[in-house]
Amino acid sequence: MIVDLHTHTTASDGGLSPAELVLRAQQCGVQLLAVTDHDTIDGYRAISEVAAGDVQIIAGIELSCTWSGVNIHVLGLGIDVDSACLKSELTDQRAARGERAKIIGERLAKLGFDGTYEGASELAEGRAIGRPDFARFMVAAGYVDSMATAFDKYLGAGKVGDVKAMWPTLETVVEWIKSAGGVAVLAHPLHYKLTNAKLRRMLADFKEAGGEGLEVCNGRPSATDLAYLRQLCKDFDFEASAGSDFHQPNNWLELGCDAKVVAPCRPIWARWQRAELSV
Ligand code: AMP
Ligand code: MN
Ligand code: MN
Ligand code: MN
Repeated sequence: MIVDLHTHTTASDGGLSPAELVLRAQQCGVQLLAVTDHDTIDGYRAISEVAAGDVQIIAGIELSCTWSGVNIHVLGLGIDVDSACLKSELTDQRAARGERAKIIGERLAKLGFDGTYEGASELAEGRAIGRPDFARFMVAAGYVDSMATAFDKYLGAGKVGDVKAMWPTLETVVEWIKSAGGVAVLAHPLHYKLTNAKLRRMLADFKEAGGEGLEVCNGRPSATDLAYLRQLCKDFDFEASAGSDFHQPNNWLELGCDAKVVAPCRPIWARWQRAELSV
């Protein structure tokens, strides 16, 4: 079985429209797909209106939050997108993105990069602004030679544009997900570059807050990373998730993960998978 529980569309920083994402998922043989745009459910809403064919679609989201000064991403899977509580929190989250963007722009201006807030806002075309919009503008303005350089030097973790003061706490976003009937999954645990001890502290806090899943497979992990994440999943008794974190064709990993990749951990998708689908 091919699953993909972590994907993006043009509703956040992905390159494919919701309809294009579903079509590509069909072409890639994905049987179970979660749409998990950053801090918005607009992409999923658009998909439920188009013919998904044989692809079973799960409502999802990827929420930005902080834990101990680190910017963490939590996936909410199987959420009720009509939850009034979640909708109101997402309005605040969008406002937080706007505030953050202004600060990123001010900080970059101090380094001599003028007009980045205005440029990024224009590129966002009405979506909530993200760091990729700043990176794209900085390339277009000739400030940097590539998106990768923009992140490496100015926008990535620990750099001047890594503004996270506006995000809610880890506990808060888990609460939002649970209030909308969803399951909270810690996304890409190795992206935060935490020591083993600190990562375990974060996972303990996540579990305590009500987190139930760990993204054991994000993209195409090495055998070493997979073994480590399966062990963490077992140690904290989490259910395992798997997703490509697909953003766009070209320069990004393709959609789809072999469901077997998380074995012997308990797959989180067992909660939703149709009876006719088997691992
Ligand atoms: P934000 O949601 O505004 O915090 O921006 C984070 C997003 O930037 C991630 O979800 C990725 O899509 C993107 N990103 C992070 N690092 C890089 C990178 N080195 N190159 C290109 N895009 C990146
Ligand atoms: Mn992204
Ligand atoms: Mn993420
Ligand atoms: Mn993602």
